[in-house]
Amino acid sequence: MSFGIDDLPVRDELRGKSPYGAPQLDVPVRLNTNENPYPLPEPLVERITERVREAARNLNRYPDRDAVELRTGLAEYLTKTAGHPVGPENVWAANGSNEVIQQLLQTFGGPGRTAIGFEPSYSMHALISRGTGTHWISGPRNEDFTIDLAAAREAIAGHRPDVVFVTTPNNPTGNAVPAETVLGLYEAAQAAKPSMVVVDEAYIEFSHGRSLLPLLDGRPNLVISRTMSKAFGAAGLRLGYLAAHPAVVEAVQLVRLPYHLSAVTQATALAALEHTDTLLKYVEQLKAERDRLVDGLRGLGYDVTESDANFVQFGRFEDSHAAWRDILDRGVLVRDNGVPGWLRVTAGTPAENDAFLDAVREMQSLVG
Ligand code: PMP
Repeated sequence: MSFGIDDLPVRDELRGKSPYGAPQLDVPVRLNTNENPYPLPEPLVERITERVREAARNLNRYPDRDAVELRTGLAEYLTKTAGHPVGPENVWAANGSNEVIQQLLQTFGGPGRTAIGFEPSYSMHALISRGTGTHWISGPRNEDFTIDLAAAREAIAGHRPDVVFVTTPNNPTGNAVPAETVLGLYEAAQAAKPSMVVVDEAYIEFSHGRSLLPLLDGRPNLVISRTMSKAFGAAGLRLGYLAAHPAVVEAVQLVRLPYHLSAVTQATALAALEHTDTLLKYVEQLKAERDRLVDGLRGLGYDVTESDANFVQFGRFEDSHAAWRDILDRGVLVRDNGVPGWLRVTAGTPAENDAFLDAVREMQSLVG
């Protein structure tokens, strides 16, 4: 027998677990990871090249450890788009919002501490909790995937978690969480502990509604997490960030690795920020395509969860994995998130979305 992972002295809570990962399959139409389908515009590619060339000359030195120029640029973007003044002291950046979440859990969670999320939701909240030794509680959600505030408050009062996650728009379901619900959860979390409430706004730019950023006023235990992976179309860049009270920004610096954000990453993200308007131009197009997917799927008789994101949850299937396979056999990769009866499709280019709608039209006979 060959030596395997089970023969290593890995931590008990990691035994028998699988790593996170959507299949990276080589198929013509890939609509499974909520990426932006449009490559970066050529003038931006040029600007990135210039900025990175400049950065390359100084790669003998460590990068700006506090990423001040980048955090200033991100603060300007937030101030402009969310209509709420934010300064660099309110912003922290890391390698993707996954790392932001990890740093938050290292700071506010950890062994002997507890985090809660309302599932189905972004599965990495639970996985990063596990990875940081934080006990994970799966909180309730209604049948229609909305959060039942009374039940959620009860769960918070009962478990007294140290960290509360709210994803809006939610992944994989697509629906947004109303501001009143987030406020209710925040109140419950402060009464119970007090604890940190992390609002994951990875998809907020695609929402019909507004960012909850203005709620930061007077709420030092609230954190808004964001990413350049979706609306900015820069998933390969790995740049996530948070906005919060300056004390939160100071606190996460206790756990961040020194020089965690490379000079190349900082240079690339700064170039992307210079082209914010061009990049966000695609957001409107993707929102229209998302709405076309919703209408198209409903027209074919599928159930569709209301979507404020760049993806759509659709069903219901007696066997969602068989339906996933069937769509894949027709050349389109969507996501089976393990929500029984449902699948998720990311809004792609108009041609990709047509290919997807053709595939589900052809396989309609399989719908339960
Ligand atoms: N939050 C949510 C809700 C997500 O869906 C994702 C990506 N799938 C992330 C955070 C992480 O994104 P990234 O690390 O690329 O910023």
